[in-house]
Amino acid sequence: MSETNEHAAGDSVPELKQRIRELAGMLHACRLRMPNAPAEAVREMAESEERFALAVRGTNDGIWDWDIRSGKVFFSPPWKSMIGYEDDELENVFATFETLLHPEDHDRVLDTLNDYLAGSIPRYSVEFRFRHKDGSWRWILARGRALRDENDKPYRMAGSHTDVTERKQAEEELRQARRAAESANSAKSAFLANMSHEIRTPMNGVIGMSELLLGTDLNETQREYLEMLKLSADSLLELLNDILDFSKIEAGRMELDAHEFDLSEVVTEISQAMGIRAFQKRLVFKHHITPEVPVRLIGDDGRLRQILVNLIGNAIKFTHKGGVTIEVSMESETADKVTLHFKINDTGIGIAADMRESIFEAFTQAEHSTARRYGGTGLGLAICHDLVALMQGRIWVESQPGEGSTFHFTAAFGRTSGISIKPRSPRIQPVVIAQSSMKVLIVEDGHVSQLVGARMLEKRGHVVTLASNGKEAIDRCDKEAFDAILMDVHMPGINGYEATARIRQAEKASGRHVPIIAMTANAMKGDRERCLAAGMDDYIAKPLRSAELFQVVEQFALPSAAPEPAQPPPAPTPPSPRPQTETPPFDLAEFRESTGDEKLMRKLVAIFSEDAQKYLRKAEKALTAGKARPLYEAAHSLKGMLGVYAARKALTLSSELCEYAHAGDLKGAQIMLDQLKKECALLGDALLAAFGPGT
Ligand code: ADP
Repeated sequence: MSETNEHAAGDSVPELKQRIRELAGMLHACRLRMPNAPAEAVREMAESEERFALAVRGTNDGIWDWDIRSGKVFFSPPWKSMIGYEDDELENVFATFETLLHPEDHDRVLDTLNDYLAGSIPRYSVEFRFRHKDGSWRWILARGRALRDENDKPYRMAGSHTDVTERKQAEEELRQARRAAESANSAKSAFLANMSHEIRTPMNGVIGMSELLLGTDLNETQREYLEMLKLSADSLLELLNDILDFSKIEAGRMELDAHEFDLSEVVTEISQAMGIRAFQKRLVFKHHITPEVPVRLIGDDGRLRQILVNLIGNAIKFTHKGGVTIEVSMESETADKVTLHFKINDTGIGIAADMRESIFEAFTQAEHSTARRYGGTGLGLAICHDLVALMQGRIWVESQPGEGSTFHFTAAFGRTSGISIKPRSPRIQPVVIAQSSMKVLIVEDGHVSQLVGARMLEKRGHVVTLASNGKEAIDRCDKEAFDAILMDVHMPGINGYEATARIRQAEKASGRHVPIIAMTANAMKGDRERCLAAGMDDYIAKPLRSAELFQVVEQFALPSAAPEPAQPPPAPTPPSPRPQTETPPFDLAEFRESTGDEKLMRKLVAIFSEDAQKYLRKAEKALTAGKARPLYEAAHSLKGMLGVYAARKALTLSSELCEYAHAGDLKGAQIMLDQLKKECALLGDALLAAFGPGT
């Protein structure tokens, strides 16, 4: 004790004297407030004051003790030395504190203090910049507590100052490092987007040309060489897609495209395709879905296929005798969600224990010799891992080297509603003969792509006109009417977006609307919405594949142009407000089929507008407030209802809106919502037109 006293005396005699006077005053005040306080309590209080004095000396923190009534503040020597002052250099009043605050922090700190004293916040803890004697700013964390009288009025407040400048600097450095990393990452994905464009364009030529060549007269050797060429080109494109997928996932741009699908169809189709490979290797190949698994689910079947193809492909690749089995069972379920458990078992070479985790990382193979012996890039499982995570599931492996492996993964899917909605028609459908010949304008600056597109369409019986740039396209459209335009978006001079805008402008006078289909090798998010926003009607990715090309173009075929001889010419109809070339907003036959009852249909039509408006308003409100979650919910509700009306375009738009909302991309969402509003208005009119306003 005496040591402490000596120490204290050496430190600051006048301050201690002052302190003792204050404490005596306080004790006196306490006695006044508690006239009958027993001597015991008074002694306790004196001890606690003493402990406080000790604590003041034992910490690096600065201590302050403010007598609110008198305005006097005790600042401990460390409180002052923290900002470079000797004890006698600063006056012990509240104003000292206030004048040292950074001007930008002043109001915030005093507001916090007042809020605390007024009892509207439970704790006083605030960070601010404080001026050092040398003129620099230190970051201080201040904390404190007030003592209150019987009326809850604060009369004294004490607390500490901690110098947190270093922590603040570290935080700032971290923030800067993160910003740098983020900008490096977005530079990387921009680079990948460009690369994919650059590589896919010539691939368009290679694949398209070999497809065309394969359709000509060839001798056996030529055909064999060409088939090998085509095979290599296909696998190169596959690799390119893998890298793109992976970089999209990395950049957080991968999105699932959820719609209704048939699980048994998916498993059977994949098993049929992969079974051939297994058969060639004389492997037994089996698949089984347990009966309690619902057949129809809502999810991204395309991405599910991708995972299954990868895992089954690996199983077959790494198995030389025995077989491969696929099993799907129920993992868990809730009212609107089912989680499935997929198991892919093989009797192959197995995986060493120390590799079982790392094979799910990018570019990792279990053994260095794997690539040489089996090929592959080590990307497949990394993509599966990330896709499974997007499906709210996980992936893992059990394996015994030399005996085989079992890959497991779980994935969550939505349940379907009572009303059966037809699955969205797949992009690539079996090639059917076009109902009629169409006049198609191809706008493309690359000769190879021009030729590939033109030949494919011509072989199919369409009449093709070529334009090499935006300007030519506009001129052509001026002179001639086309049934559809395939428009490259990246062209020197007037690009595809601009050319489209000018064609649309020119159409205002005639009331026509020529379907414009964007062709682009960019496969990154945002392209599609840009194309649609520019006034285009659909979108096709390069390299062009014939089946997909025909489907996209022929959806715009005029039904009246079908070669149906001996038909009387149609009676002249009043000019339609909508271009006839557009697909109708809903499919009456499908609507009828899925509803199955004329009365129900009429009822559904009667409530359509009100219901749609409700959700659209909700979505708009959420967007204005910048809130992605309620936006997603509104879009999701819309999607649910639009499916009932077999309104394909509106359904697609709403599911895209869902995706943008889900990804938090509000700019993209706004564009989608605007289109969706227009489409819902058209749909409402079309429904009334079909069923009469009396419904
Ligand atoms: P790759 O394109 O090389 O097949 P993956 O990411 O699909 O890339 O697989 C990574 C590695 O994991 C493979 O190279 C292989 O070493 C190991 N592997 C994956 N599946 C199996 C399996 N069924 N049996 C044995 N090894 C496997």
